[in-house]
Amino acid sequence: MIIREYRPEDCPRLTELFHQTVHTVNAADYTPAQLEAWAPGGAELRDWDRSFRAHYTLVALEGGEIAGFGDLDTETGYLDRLYVRWDLQGRGVASALCDRLEGRAAGRIVTHASITARPFFEKRGYRTLARQQVERRGIYLTNYIMEKQEELPRMNHFKEIAAALDSRGLDAMLLSCEANRFYASGFHSSGTDGMALVTRNRNYYFTDSRYTEAAGRAVRDAELREVGGRIGYSTRLKEAIAEQSIERMGYEDAYMTVKEYETYRQALPCELVPAAELLQELRRVKDREELAVMTAAQRIAERALEDILKEIRPGVTEREIAARLQYLMLHYGAENMSFDPIVVSGPNGSLPHGVPSEREIRSGEFVTMDFGCIYRGYCSDMTRTVAVGSVTEEMRAVYETVLAAQKAGIAAARAGVTGRDVDGAARQVIADAGYGAYFGHGFGHGVGVEIHEAPTASSANDKPLPAGAVISAEPGIYLPGKLGVRIEDVIVITEDGCENLTRAPKELLIL
Ligand code: ZN
Ligand code: ZN
Repeated sequence: MIIREYRPEDCPRLTELFHQTVHTVNAADYTPAQLEAWAPGGAELRDWDRSFRAHYTLVALEGGEIAGFGDLDTETGYLDRLYVRWDLQGRGVASALCDRLEGRAAGRIVTHASITARPFFEKRGYRTLARQQVERRGIYLTNYIMEKQEELPRMNHFKEIAAALDSRGLDAMLLSCEANRFYASGFHSSGTDGMALVTRNRNYYFTDSRYTEAAGRAVRDAELREVGGRIGYSTRLKEAIAEQSIERMGYEDAYMTVKEYETYRQALPCELVPAAELLQELRRVKDREELAVMTAAQRIAERALEDILKEIRPGVTEREIAARLQYLMLHYGAENMSFDPIVVSGPNGSLPHGVPSEREIRSGEFVTMDFGCIYRGYCSDMTRTVAVGSVTEEMRAVYETVLAAQKAGIAAARAGVTGRDVDGAARQVIADAGYGAYFGHGFGHGVGVEIHEAPTASSANDKPLPAGAVISAEPGIYLPGKLGVRIEDVIVITEDGCENLTRAPKELLIL
């Protein structure tokens, strides 16, 4: 079975399947009149297509033919439709679709289940909130409001790290940098306070008394040992080395300071092997829980954008917009910013990473906002450029070129294609429009625990992108002293293309 995202050409087949399924599978639980009211046939394809496109809609294929579909409103977590072809019931199609849709719901999912579908949802852990009568064309049908509240995933990746040790000939991996420690343990402690040690059989988390209680609650699957006083990290590490007979211990050569390295090299009775790449490799590919959390982080940024668009007008300064974006993201549940928001307007727009200033927005200008937040340890990232008042021909041309370039890059993105080729697809569009000299940075970067991580989609990356990688798609054109446009979404690489985590519209918006 293949599951992929909806394409507009699927629409007629999906409405047909819906009609057929309702009139066969649901016939046991509803009267003919009710079935007719529910699925009258002669569906308005344009309306269906519009709603499929507004939702996260997935299609299941069996032997090249459409076997079922389901769609989720990711804004509200409402599972709208889930239908499987009448002759393919009971083969796991609905479960497979549901697994993927629930993964995208980020916490809570609600559906209105038919009498027929209710047992299916009950088995999946949904509970019934209410039985209701819905009216369709003057006829009443019974269904159930059902909800599934997913225990927020408590993520750690000890197992994955342990499984990768052999490939590098390591007995253990020592994690000292904040991002990797968090990735391994799911526990955030600031700065240099804390260390995780992953071995084949047991994991350790060392920290001092300020964090012991919090770590005790958050860290699972690892043994917690306190440091402090005369018992330093070296002492704890020596204990673990003896307990687990560690001979070769990987360390993060990209993060550890020279001084720390010298200390451990002298103190520890084992070989220290540079292995920061091991974590980089693992973190490139996101699992289901990570994608759910990243989607939620993206939604928070989008809600902030929606609000801020109502506040942008001549006279408002770049800094005020940046401050409001930060407030709004925190208001909507962010833990922190992924980075300081970039808000640049008019001629400042040509500075891709400009710092928001006291400059007031004027009519006839672009405003570029690049921002994102951290939610449950994972980053979101997005950029939108909007115009205020009016646009010139040139502004429109630049905007449309960037948008076309972004779409070309996204269309080229799929597992197995190199970062360079994705970048190249977008770059070509900008070069063809005559702006080649004004797109200096890469097309995209990996996003995850850190705002910039592997893999990149730039000319420097000639390695194939793996399925499950999350990268930004952010081409731009910057005309020095004049204007700039950048549009950024975050996408997940899949076997047959990519999925866009960003739902905010990106057609030229003139406020
Ligand atoms: Zn960005
Ligand atoms: Zn970015």
